Amino acid sequence: MNSKEASFGRELVTNPERVRELGARMANENLRWRTRLKNGSYSSAQIDRAFHEVFKLIQAEIDCTQCGVCCRDMSFELGAGDIQRLARHLNLSIADFRSTYVLEESEEETLATPCPFLKCSRCSCYEARPEVCRSFPHLDKPDMTSRLLGVISNAERCPIVFNVVEHMKDRFAEEKGR
Ligand code: SF4
Ligand code: SF4
Repeated sequence: MNSKEASFGRELVTNPERVRELGARMANENLRWRTRLKNGSYSSAQIDRAFHEVFKLIQAEIDCTQCGVCCRDMSFELGAGDIQRLARHLNLSIADFRSTYVLEESEEETLATPCPFLKCSRCSCYEARPEVCRSFPHLDKPDMTSRLLGVISNAERCPIVFNVVEHMKDRFAEEKGR
């Protein structure tokens, strides 16, 4: 076991393809774990504290610039503030920004997938990126218990979320699905 494994108690899986493969394989186990955790004896505050702590540790070990999966595979919703900020950043009118970058077919205004601002696994508009991109993968939010469905769905794609969930399953082992 190397020092990184020792500090996490298990090897981190950082390869996005491997995360996709393992995540799909663990989908049912994760669903069962979610149900047990939600209905178990831990308080919402205990679960939040653990998620936030584990997220902080694992986020520091995973380099998003080597991944880019969320920017390639997920469709992010834009708020009015995001559109204004991005349009200003790109020196476009709001109308021109909308017609160029915003998908029209959904009710919400979203960016296309892969995101048009993703260049060589980096965000080309990082300073002006949407709020949802700033907060993804949303593991430092309050009331994580109510977000578990989204978390285990993201665990099938995002290396950070995958490793956080695996670590949380170790911490809350008695709630782990069988
Ligand atoms: S705006 Fe930037 S951070 Fe957000 S999805 Fe696009 S490339 Fe990724
Ligand atoms: S947040 Fe997750 S999916 Fe997005 S780049 Fe980082 S590790 Fe990859």
